[in-house]
Amino acid sequence: MNVADSERAATGLRSSGYDLCDSVDEADVVLLNTCSVREKAERKVYTRIGEVRAARPGKRDVLVGVMGCVAQLEGASIFNNAPAVDMVIGTRATDRISSLIERAQNGERKVLDLGERGNTDAWDVSPAERHSPHVAFIPIIEGCNKFCSFCIVPYSRGRERSRPASEIVTEVRNLQALGYKEIHLIGQNVNSYRPRVEDGLEGFKGATAFCRLLRAVAATGMPRIKFTTSFPRDFHPDIITAIEENPNLCDWIHLPVQSGSDRILKLMRRGHTRNDYRQRIERIKNSRRRLALTSDIIVGFPGETDADFRETIDLVQQCEYDSLYIFKYSKRSGTPAANFADNVPEQEKKERFLELEATQRKTQDRIYQSYIGRTLQVLVERQSTRSENDLSGHSTCNKVVNFAGDRGLEGEIVDVTVTAAKTNSLYGAVANSVRVNRSVVE
Ligand code: SAM
Repeated sequence: MNVADSERAATGLRSSGYDLCDSVDEADVVLLNTCSVREKAERKVYTRIGEVRAARPGKRDVLVGVMGCVAQLEGASIFNNAPAVDMVIGTRATDRISSLIERAQNGERKVLDLGERGNTDAWDVSPAERHSPHVAFIPIIEGCNKFCSFCIVPYSRGRERSRPASEIVTEVRNLQALGYKEIHLIGQNVNSYRPRVEDGLEGFKGATAFCRLLRAVAATGMPRIKFTTSFPRDFHPDIITAIEENPNLCDWIHLPVQSGSDRILKLMRRGHTRNDYRQRIERIKNSRRRLALTSDIIVGFPGETDADFRETIDLVQQCEYDSLYIFKYSKRSGTPAANFADNVPEQEKKERFLELEATQRKTQDRIYQSYIGRTLQVLVERQSTRSENDLSGHSTCNKVVNFAGDRGLEGEIVDVTVTAAKTNSLYGAVANSVRVNRSVVE
């Protein structure tokens, strides 16, 4: 989501006449896009502001702005904590950045905008600002209405707002015309998608608006469509049916569970039990397509006992995730959980983190090994960072796959037969010289 926001900010700035440069040394304006999901990310912002100023000593004409979630949450207090900052730009002010810069350039001090989006705000992103010429992120829903007790997102990003399907489908078609091979429909909870208008969904069946959107986007013929993140309570089994019907809906589901203990899930206010979650997983595991499954877990939530943690270990073993993002609980001020006693000692959190990681590693090693000998369709995204002779891309099941190949293959979808498995990536060889490069739906 932050990458997509930066792309959108860059699009607006470029159309107002700004050029983007690669280094702070050349910049007239430096904007830091920020994340506040965990305390560590938030602290990093202040270090970075110091580094920016240190890189340009005595250059007070360089304007420094903070945008994103930290800006939205901390507002004017950023000016007190970091006097080097000239602009604080909230999460819904992205389309007003150039006018905020102008105000700062005209001598206004401490320019602050924490307002809502305007009705005419544009979501489109120029291809020049996209992070990749092959893979594009398309936000379909912003904000969050769930209010999980640990999570800052509803406060930093506001309530859920869904984009009309017609706009999303048009963006997908435009990207396809530009040669993009893969899109990610993104949002805090993509499957809570609920647009105010029907436009673009007419004629597409589905148990929920999101299921209809999946079918509408699949009908464009975009070769690969992924989506993240799904919220368990809103995960309708028809999502799996839509995937089974459409080969270009990719075989990967990210469904964060957070804990395996019903007692902790209730304190987290997740709105689902362990059993609810297991039922959703069952449909995914029983699909006639082999779907990769990934999740997020928080260890050391306030009040989490060793018995609660054992239930998490047990659930993680049962779910057999392809990969797992594990987080140590981080207290976020303003959330309900910030009033609970953060009573799991840091050392205990660390030990639980390591034990869960080791547990997951065993399953993951087994899953990754099972790919050896199989042929995957890989979108070649770039040269590998590890070796000049290797290319790197993702499979439809969202595994990183590296293989020896010529850079001319970048942007192509190739069949790669897996020859070796590492912890978080696969290694293989091109299966044949024929490039699989047409749309799946023609
Ligand atoms: N909307 C998704 C959901 O709730 O299922 C997840 C969005 S959140 C930006 C990404 C992940 O960060 C969460 O799934 C959670 O595991 C982790 N996270 C959020 N708040 C946290 C906190 N206070 N401490 C530690 N991890 C946290």
